[in-house]
Amino acid sequence: MPSATIRAAVLHEPGDVRVEDVQLDPPGRGEVRVRLAAAGVCHSDLHLVDGALGDGRWPMVLGHEGAGVVEEIGADVDHVAVGDEVVLSWVPSCRSCEMCLAGRPTLCTVAAAHSLAGTMPDGTTRLRLPDGTPLQHGLMTACFAEWAVVPAAGAILLPGGLPLWQAALLGCGVMTGFGAVRNVARVEPGESVVVIGLGGVGLQVLAAAKLAGAAPIVAVDRDAAKLERALERGADAAVDTSADERVVRTLRTLTHGGADHAFEVVGLPETMLLAWKALRPGGTAVVIGIAAKGAELSLPALELSQEKGIRGSFYGSGDPAADLAELARLAAGGELDLAGVVTQLDTLDGVTGALDRLRRGEGVRTVLVLDPALAGVEPTETGTV
Ligand SMILES: [Zn+2]
Ligand SMILES: [Zn+2]
Repeated sequence: MPSATIRAAVLHEPGDVRVEDVQLDPPGRGEVRVRLAAAGVCHSDLHLVDGALGDGRWPMVLGHEGAGVVEEIGADVDHVAVGDEVVLSWVPSCRSCEMCLAGRPTLCTVAAAHSLAGTMPDGTTRLRLPDGTPLQHGLMTACFAEWAVVPAAGAILLPGGLPLWQAALLGCGVMTGFGAVRNVARVEPGESVVVIGLGGVGLQVLAAAKLAGAAPIVAVDRDAAKLERALERGADAAVDTSADERVVRTLRTLTHGGADHAFEVVGLPETMLLAWKALRPGGTAVVIGIAAKGAELSLPALELSQEKGIRGSFYGSGDPAADLAELARLAAGGELDLAGVVTQLDTLDGVTGALDRLRRGEGVRTVLVLDPALAGVEPTETGTV
């Protein structure tokens, strides 16, 4: 198919997002074109829109948590075919750089460089404004649109039986949360877990910790509604930082002296420090939240002698292609509840409203239904599901 006119959510500059017509070129070698069914609106989209991830990230088609159906394949693509249902991975690892060869495909240097530049692996883009201005592909995914061209390594075959409006969530929130628990912390049954920040990713950390048999699991947030939802979804206790003036003491009490694992899913130095303080000696804090550029974290250095640890986790820190396929199987088999974290279904035009809700901290996940028939669900008039 030649170049097509499609509707997409374009970030023109920080704070300026417009849903409009753009041009999409056909997939090149090693690329596929996907008709998008649905896409989740994630905090990283908000960071990009607010300009918090640095200059030069616009103009860009946003969106990185999507699922759809393959409609066209470029040369040298053999792991998916036209008609296949896929979830999109925003780290399409190259399998040949030094990080990939070292077994750290989420840190693929090739994917990172092109993700930052907003291009396909060959350094060019398939997206243009009507006047010819090249558009960046948001996180090599650009799925707030009717169609997307993505690197073939970013199109992960789904097992079937999973509605695509739910499968979309696997591509960022689920992958990130589950990976941090399974690949980084390696939570064991009976270990205590503190989760700070119960948004879309935090709820997946909670679900993964629950599945791993962690106990107790303590949810920490400043939003009572988020804590209520965490309790409904299996947290053993909830701590409201807006109401509790002695949060660290409360956490230590609830975890009988400190947590084995603390997960920070906010992206602020103060919540990272709280994760550290919640630990028992020998415990480890896992930072998932993305901090603003330039933010610095300061820790009580003496506590390193207690063998406490802190480390970051990026996109689940595993092998996205293998992990996404495994998570999709778990979800299709009913072991993962994806629908329960979706608080709103909307159309592509609802993207700015969804970003505003994220900014205000309302709800958990908005899923933009880009093709109701493919997604398996209609956007709702009233919003909440
Ligand atoms: Zn995301
Ligand atoms: Zn690589």
